[in-house]
Amino acid sequence: MTHVFHRQLNTTLPRAVSARGISITDADGKSYLDASGGAAVSCLGHAHPDVLAAMHEQIDRVAYAHTSFFTTDVAEELAADLIEHAPAGMSHAYFVSGGSEAVEAALKMARQYFVEIGQLQRRHFIARRQSYHGNTLGALAVGGNQWRRAQFAPLLMAVTHVSPCYEYRDRQPGETPEQYGARLVQELAGVIETLGADSVIAFVAETVVGATAGALTPVPGYLRGVRELCDRHGILLVLDEVMSGMGRTGTLHACEQEHVVPDLMTIAKGLGGGYQPIGAVLAQGRIVDTFARGSGLFQHGHTYIGHPVACAAALAVQRVIRRDGLLAAVRRQGQALTSRLQATFGDHPHVGDIRGRGLFQAIELVRDRADKTPFDAGLKLHARIKRQAMQCGLMVYPMGGTIDGQRGDHVLLAPPFIVTDGELDAIVERLARAVAGAL
Ligand code: PLP
Repeated sequence: MTHVFHRQLNTTLPRAVSARGISITDADGKSYLDASGGAAVSCLGHAHPDVLAAMHEQIDRVAYAHTSFFTTDVAEELAADLIEHAPAGMSHAYFVSGGSEAVEAALKMARQYFVEIGQLQRRHFIARRQSYHGNTLGALAVGGNQWRRAQFAPLLMAVTHVSPCYEYRDRQPGETPEQYGARLVQELAGVIETLGADSVIAFVAETVVGATAGALTPVPGYLRGVRELCDRHGILLVLDEVMSGMGRTGTLHACEQEHVVPDLMTIAKGLGGGYQPIGAVLAQGRIVDTFARGSGLFQHGHTYIGHPVACAAALAVQRVIRRDGLLAAVRRQGQALTSRLQATFGDHPHVGDIRGRGLFQAIELVRDRADKTPFDAGLKLHARIKRQAMQCGLMVYPMGGTIDGQRGDHVLLAPPFIVTDGELDAIVERLARAVAGAL
């Protein structure tokens, strides 16, 4: 009997009793390799001594101080650290407790920015169909996952959704990746024109798509084209790196690899590595200055923003990543993961695509590789793979659903940055068994 209102009320979950390195052990003594970092969270694995020590030290110093009364050394240090390594022009970090809160804050920051400069007519957000930005109402509204949105649709603000950048499914024969990217930018330009360019607040996108389609990387030049288009119309670019950021793709921020600098960027998950709930919005100096010179107040906030223990955990995570050269490890082990996935699934009759960047990779499952026909929704293949994987002692992040009228089943892998070659062997071997068991 449980009194926890679990997400799934008709399944019994194993009880996690200890977690070390890249493994979690349940009450029956069974161990699970954490090949998804939970949901792309545990970048340093579990029980990292440096992070635990930093949290203990902070608890002894100041465990909590409300941000309307005080700032703290640790919040100031974390913000300075993030800004030192942020894309050009970013000047401030607004702290929150997770990804959805970061997206909510970014949406309101973007709207208030235009209120501050007197452009009150800007009220539209444009986002993409194949996207996930969180489960709170604002974040759900910009998100493009129909399954997650459907029953709450009457409560959601109107957002215009454009095509995702989904090369495997949508790039046409004879079209180069660059031409495909340019076509998507053209589509966005058309939508901006229809809405009226001066009525649009921001375009919101995940730099690399995570939770709806599994590690969809942008084609070359696409996000640069989007950036230019936004600049032309004074529209803000909000990049959501809650899942793909903080080192997961091999650079601290995924947008670095696109040579694109957003106006606002959301981060969470890997920021605190799962040791504490923390997220942030990184903001361009021009935007923060506008607030400072204008009303002097961002009209938003939650009780736990800038929580000192969460900031201490996140700061320790950043220091370990740098000290231990973990961004290079992500690039190296990312290649090692790709080659193992290629070796195991490259010729698999039901694996249509292997994709991703760094330690953020996915396979897409199809009934027929030749025409990319997905499996029937009724099969719930993604759920079967998850069950099979757990039986094999493996945590992965499978997802499925109807997207743009197309079914898709994907399995996302996001192992901790400390994953070894031997652990990658075990992950891919167990994944192959799970897929075989589920099909
Ligand atoms: N944005 C992206 C890109 C995400 O992947 C997620 C979660 O998966 C969120 C926002 C929401 O984050 P959280 O679950 O921490 O609220």
